[in-house]
Amino acid sequence: MAGGATDGTADVVVVGGGVMGGATAFYLAGKGARVLLVEQHRIGGPPSASGASAAIVEALAGSPAPLAQQAQLARRLLADLAPRLLELTGIDVELQRLGTVRLAFSERQVAVLRQYVAGLYAELGEASEWLDAIALHDAEPATRVGLLGGLYVPSSNGLYAPKYVRALAAGAAALGATVLQGVTVTGFDVHGDRVVAVQTSEGQISAGQVVLASGAWTGVVSRWLGRSLPVGPQRGQIMALAPAPGQPRVRHVLHGPGGYVIPKANGTACVGATHEHVGFDARVTTYGMKFLADLALRLAPGLETATLKHVWMGFRPVLLQDDLPAVGRLPGLENTYVVAGHGAIGVTVSAAVGHTLAQLILGQTPDASLAPFDPGRLTGPLPCQI
Ligand SMILES: Cc1cc2nc3c(=O)[nH]c(=O)nc-3n(C[C@H](O)[C@H](O)[C@H](O)COP(=O)(O)OP(=O)(O)OC[C@H]3O[C@@H](n4cnc5c(N)ncnc54)[C@H](O)[C@@H]3O)c2cc1C
Repeated sequence: MAGGATDGTADVVVVGGGVMGGATAFYLAGKGARVLLVEQHRIGGPPSASGASAAIVEALAGSPAPLAQQAQLARRLLADLAPRLLELTGIDVELQRLGTVRLAFSERQVAVLRQYVAGLYAELGEASEWLDAIALHDAEPATRVGLLGGLYVPSSNGLYAPKYVRALAAGAAALGATVLQGVTVTGFDVHGDRVVAVQTSEGQISAGQVVLASGAWTGVVSRWLGRSLPVGPQRGQIMALAPAPGQPRVRHVLHGPGGYVIPKANGTACVGATHEHVGFDARVTTYGMKFLADLALRLAPGLETATLKHVWMGFRPVLLQDDLPAVGRLPGLENTYVVAGHGAIGVTVSAAVGHTLAQLILGQTPDASLAPFDPGRLTGPLPCQI
C-alpha cells in the first residue's frame, strides 16, 4: 500500500468505515484478527449515513422479530461498548438514557398507542406508561398545550453519531486494526470461490476474508463481484436547533407523525428526517428545510424561537426489496461477507451486528442467529454480464 500504512495483507479487509464496518472491525480486532478498514471519505463525514444519523437507539417495537431482537442485544452491548470506547480512544460517544414519548394528536392515535403500541413494547419486555395531557406537558414543556397525551418508554437511548462512528474505527485501531481514510476500493481479484485481493486507489491488499460494509454504495460494489445486491441510497436531511435562552428544551426523544426530535448533550435538538429517493444527490434543499421546520413546530412548538445551527444529510442504505437487511456470507464466495441495507435503524443495531458478524467470520457460533439476514435470498445473477 502507498504510504507504508500496511504491508499489503490482512486477515480481513473491511470495505467501508460507517457504523457497520467500524463495529465489525472493532469486534474482529478485539478477537485478535488482523483487520484493515478502508474508507473512501473521512470516517463519519458526509455523505455516509452513519455520521449524519440522529442516533436514536431504542427498542424496535413492531419491527420483524429478528431485527427487534438484534436491537435488544445491541442496547445491552452498548452499555459495555460506550465506556470501552472511551477507555480505548478518549472519545465519549455520549450514550444517554433519554426515554421516548410517542405523541398523540388525535383520539385515534390515543387508542392505537394505548391499546396496540404499548402491547408491542410489552412483547419485548419494555415498560411503557401513558402520560395524559397534563403529565405530558409537565414532562415536555416544549410540546403543544392541548396534545392528547403520549406513550412514554423510559428505556430509549441516544448517542452522538459523529463521535460514535469515529470511536468505533479508532477503537478498532487501538486494538491493532489499520484504518485507511481517503482510500477507495475499486475492485476485487477473484480466484475460484475466493476473493484473494482487494484493489484500491492506493494499491492492492491481499485479503484472507473480505467484508462489504459499503452502505448505500453496496449495490455498486457487489456488482464488481458479479452479485447484484438490491441496496441503494435514500437521502435523509436533518437539522439541529439550539433553543433560545429561557425557552424550553426538549428532554426526551419525541416521535410523532412524520419524524422525531432528539435532544443532544450540547443542548441542541435534532429534528429528522426526510426519506427521499433521489439517487446519490447529496444536496440539502429548500424542501428539506421546510419539511424539517414544519416537523419541529408540529412536535415541539417551543422550538419556534430556536436558532438554526446546522442542516445536513446522509445516504441511508436501503434495500429495494425485502424488509430485512443483508448480513452474512455472499453466496458462491467462501470468504466474502456483506453487511448492508439497515435503512433508518443501522445505528440502533450496529453493536449487535458487528459483534455477531465478527463471530460468524471467525467460525464461531453467533450469539444471535444471522440466518434471517442471509444475503443469499437477495442476490441473483446480473441481468446481463458486464
Ligand atoms: C438523517 C439520518 C438520520 C438517521 N437516524 C437514525 C437513528 O436515529 N437511529 C438509527 O439507528 N439509524 C439512523 N439512521 C440510519 C443509520 O445512520 C444507517 O442505517 C447506518 O449509519 C448505516 O451504516 P453503514 O455503515 O451501513 O453505512 P454508511 O454509514 O453509509 O457507511 C458506508 C461507508 O462505506 C464507504 N464506502 C462505500 N463504497 C466504498 C468504496 N468503494 N471504498 C471505500 N469505502 C467505501 C462509504 O463512504 C461509507 O462511509 C439515520 C440515517 C440518516 C441519513
